[in-house]
Amino acid sequence: MEPVCTHLDQVKIMDTDIQVCEECVKAGDTWVHLRLCLVCGKVGCCDDSKNRHATGHFKGTGHPLIRSIEPGETWAWCFVDEVELETEEEEERT
Ligand SMILES: [Zn+2]
Ligand SMILES: [Zn+2]
Ligand SMILES: [Zn+2]
Repeated sequence: MEPVCTHLDQVKIMDTDIQVCEECVKAGDTWVHLRLCLVCGKVGCCDDSKNRHATGHFKGTGHPLIRSIEPGETWAWCFVDEVELETEEEEERT
């Protein structure tokens, strides 16, 4: 069985210029990795970070899809279906 995500029609945003977890900045905290909400563009920190704002954003809003915005990482994740997805970034590879 191929894992299937049924929420791809909710994806509106695939990229961001934000390079910080704004919730952590407000709290004066630090984070480990950053995740982007593909529904509204909210940037939050990963589950390795103390505050887990990306997961907190899903719990607070129900927005199911995030992607990694770490350099070189193209995977996305659906919290509801618990499947990993590829964002298929158009990168020039030589
Ligand atoms: Zn899904
Ligand atoms: Zn955070
Ligand atoms: Zn969101």
